[in-house]
Amino acid sequence: MKKRIAVYPGSFDPVTFGHLDIIERASKIFDHVIVSVFVHSGKKHMFTVEERVAMLRRALKGRKNVSVDCFEGLLTDYVKKKKTDVVIRGLRAISDLEYEFQMAAINRTLYRHIETVFFMPRVRYSYLSSSVVRDIAHFKGDVSKLVPVHVAKAVAARNKK
Ligand code: ADP
Repeated sequence: MKKRIAVYPGSFDPVTFGHLDIIERASKIFDHVIVSVFVHSGKKHMFTVEERVAMLRRALKGRKNVSVDCFEGLLTDYVKKKKTDVVIRGLRAISDLEYEFQMAAINRTLYRHIETVFFMPRVRYSYLSSSVVRDIAHFKGDVSKLVPVHVAKAVAARNKK
């Protein structure tokens, strides 16, 4: 039987427990999940692509059916390259819907076979975003309930500079 592969794209700047919750759910349904950091050179990030990939790899160590990658350009081209047509996204609150709805529709216009599958995280993570983590860290707040330990350390170290 054909392997069901899904791509989970995002900025992951940095990875949070919300992202990991989505990956956990998706990895139970798909044979393989490729978590892929979107390379967006025009945007200012806290961590480089390499750092974000490394933090994701560490957080996902030991997960046999999850791999971490990065990509540039159109998601539809990347998905085709990975020989799949499934994209995973997370839906936190209704506020995510408008943007996600637009992206899913545009991606389908570009590649009609693409399917976007949405997962909801547990409620406690539905208010969590990478930008909230960055904001708390900026004011030297504690992010240890929001991200894995190694990410919390990296965030704290970045803000000392
Ligand atoms: P952010 O919006 O936090 O910068 P990303 O660009 O890394 O996040 O998001 C990648 C995907 O993960 C998006 O579909 C986003 O909605 C989803 N996501 C991010 N944080 C969470 C969370 N706490 N719970 C569920 N989904 C999430």
